[in-house]
Amino acid sequence: MQRKVIPEIERYMSKISYKRRNPLPERKDRAPSPVRREPDMEVFVELAKRSNKIIEDVISNAKSNSTGHAKLITTDKIVLDPRVRWKCRIPVCFGYGMTLNCPPHSPTTEEMREIVDSYKHALLVSFYPPVENHVFPGYLTQAHGDVNLLNEMVSKVEAEATYLGYYLAMGFKGGPCVGCGFLSPEYVVDLNKGKKTPLCPSLDGQMCSQYLRARPALEAVGVDVFATVINCGEKNPYVINPQHPAESVPYVGWHGIVLII
Ligand code: SF4
Repeated sequence: MQRKVIPEIERYMSKISYKRRNPLPERKDRAPSPVRREPDMEVFVELAKRSNKIIEDVISNAKSNSTGHAKLITTDKIVLDPRVRWKCRIPVCFGYGMTLNCPPHSPTTEEMREIVDSYKHALLVSFYPPVENHVFPGYLTQAHGDVNLLNEMVSKVEAEATYLGYYLAMGFKGGPCVGCGFLSPEYVVDLNKGKKTPLCPSLDGQMCSQYLRARPALEAVGVDVFATVINCGEKNPYVINPQHPAESVPYVGWHGIVLII
């Protein structure tokens, strides 16, 4: 039987356009730090203090009923497992191949192992947003916003590490690449209506709309986030699936990692 092909001209295009980042820094009153090529516990403690303030500010600016904190860890606590990245493909995730920060474009587990092995110290960012944003039906419209808040925390914590002299600091966060509006509620509505949605600009030969800000998902680079947070002494995570009613879920945790040195 011959397949019916919808002519390009008849396709209904989504009107979604990706939000561009504001490239201007918020303030210009900092003294530069010397380059640091060795671990320094005093600086780490200062970084952890500033990171906790960043997390607090992101939550309060967003008027979100959430909690969060940052904790210094050593990178031997980070668990990598190839099965995690394979889970992006089997079964195929909605993000697979859709952004530069998702598989197959994101660093592989082997590449991430090389990256993690090059660092000894890191910060684990933990974020506990409202449960109802992450169970059905809230996750369709709210989860995206919380992933953006986590992305903002991680990118600001990474920047703070560089302001303190750790110029090779590198941040990753849990969840899909959504900073520009990809997978926003409007995007998901158009997707469900079968409209043709725009490609991630980076996959279309253009600059990422959230360049220097968008982060690969920890899962997309093979980090077993559950095992890592348990290793780091964080609250024991729960597996949350759509059929879990909000009242049965004690808390929802999202996490990021900023490698320092
Ligand atoms: S890589 Fe950049 S442009 Fe592409 S989906 Fe992520 S934030 Fe948007």
